[in-house]
Amino acid sequence: MTAIVWFRRDLRLHDHVALHAAMLTDDPIIPVYIVEESLCRSAVVGDKRLHAHFAAIASLCDAWAQLGGRLLIRHGSPQQVLCQLVQETGADKLFFNRDYTPEARMRDELVSEVLSSHGVFVHTCKDLVLHEPGEIMTKQRTPYAVFTPYRRVWQTLPKDRPFPQPTTVNLFDRLKELASETVPTVEAFGRKRPIGTEWEMEQFGERAARKRLQQFLDEDIYTYKEKRDMPGVNATSRLSFALNAGTLSIRTVYHSVQEVLASAQGEQVASIEAFLTELIWREFYQQVLYFHPHTTDHAYLPQFETVAWENRKDFFTHWCQGETGYPIVDAAMKQLNETGWMHNRLRMITASFLTKDLLVDWRWGMAYFAQQLIDFDEAANIGGWQWSASTGTDAQPYFRIFNPVTQGEKFDPDGAFVKKYLPVLREVPLQYIHKPWDMPEHIQEQAGCKIGFDYPIPCVDHAQRRKLAMALFQEAKDRHAKT
Ligand SMILES: Cc1cc2nc3c(=O)[nH]c(=O)nc-3n(C[C@H](O)[C@H](O)[C@H](O)COP(=O)(O)OP(=O)(O)OC[C@H]3O[C@@H](n4cnc5c(N)ncnc54)[C@H](O)[C@@H]3O)c2cc1C
Repeated sequence: MTAIVWFRRDLRLHDHVALHAAMLTDDPIIPVYIVEESLCRSAVVGDKRLHAHFAAIASLCDAWAQLGGRLLIRHGSPQQVLCQLVQETGADKLFFNRDYTPEARMRDELVSEVLSSHGVFVHTCKDLVLHEPGEIMTKQRTPYAVFTPYRRVWQTLPKDRPFPQPTTVNLFDRLKELASETVPTVEAFGRKRPIGTEWEMEQFGERAARKRLQQFLDEDIYTYKEKRDMPGVNATSRLSFALNAGTLSIRTVYHSVQEVLASAQGEQVASIEAFLTELIWREFYQQVLYFHPHTTDHAYLPQFETVAWENRKDFFTHWCQGETGYPIVDAAMKQLNETGWMHNRLRMITASFLTKDLLVDWRWGMAYFAQQLIDFDEAANIGGWQWSASTGTDAQPYFRIFNPVTQGEKFDPDGAFVKKYLPVLREVPLQYIHKPWDMPEHIQEQAGCKIGFDYPIPCVDHAQRRKLAMALFQEAKDRHAKT
């Protein structure tokens, strides 16, 4: 009797529910990761995102080696690879953690069907979230579409505790003889490896994730509420990659936060609770996507499905490259392009700007984020985009449109963030930092920043575009009402 444990977006050994369940059987274990080549070659996934994921796999390989084992790496379609492995080893059980996106569910259903038909017992586990889709429903047994009542129920439910890190695992005796590919690299897929110490492999593993969590719990969590909206201050947890690749377990995060909360006082309590609320948003969006799979490429709110987006390619290119002429938007896009991560406030500002100022379809922006973000998570990305575009569940109303100048002034008051990513604006006086086009000529000269030459003229006029956006949304709403 042998159990295969299939690692996917749970690239760790600590508190791995499927691994723990397999270990309870006392059967020898074969850990495997399957590289889906078509995805690795696809333009849908950017170099940085792929590199970060491969680095996390490399770290998991090391962790298995330290346990005296080995993570098998195989390429191909999951059902073929797993059937082949069953044939080679006589394994009779397959364990994996559930994933809730529409594509993952289709893949997993197929795998379960094929392996079950070969007599393999397939066991799936809840691991990615504390409360999975379907656990929290309204009294009418419908999924929640509004966050606050969902959150209230979420907070009342008991939470699973993390399992301890395994120190020994009963491994399949021929594990080291089984064929395995080397750890994948981006270069092997014709991609460019990002350069710099922040891209070193160990930055993306389980150990780095735990260290990051500890650093956050030691300090920034206490001021999270006050500073979380300030992109110039590194005050959020930066745990999104770890939570999405699974180098950190959500139970570990949740219970560590609870420990800190138990001894917190005054304002600290509100700050820690604000952080916990973000973890609930993560689960809220998982269930929205699970119950509304059409939201991958359709508006959740049908009245906004037919907004007449202008979809100008030149505007979209300006946005992607951070050359719109609005500093907070441009600096944010540079942050994304350079680091593969963007601060949450900036994700909201850039998404709002693309949809409401440039009048480009939210699906274009969503796809660009999916390609560039190392912390890409389909449910959170769709949720964030549809919220910003006013097409989603519990979304920003369409007539509340972020002003990129006042957003910059409010959330980057000293211009530190803008100056970091747009060095050409470094000498621009503070009063103009979020609207450099207002600089008189002589100040442009003093600042070494000629507008239209060193830094672009705004590609649209916010006040005009705001009116146009509201009219287009209203038209779509009226059209829908007539159908
Ligand atoms: C347009 C848009 C696109 C987004 N795309 C993604 C994405 O692809 N992947 C992703 O993980 N998050 C996404 N988010 C949510 C959020 O911006 C990131 O989770 C957050 O910026 C990650 O940084 P952090 O870990 O420091 O967050 P923290 O503020 O420290 O939050 C802690 C954790 O809570 C979760 N979280 C926080 N905010 C949200 C949120 N609004 N929705 C869901 N979960 C949240 C994340 O897991 C995060 O790591 C998106 C938001 C918007 C507006």
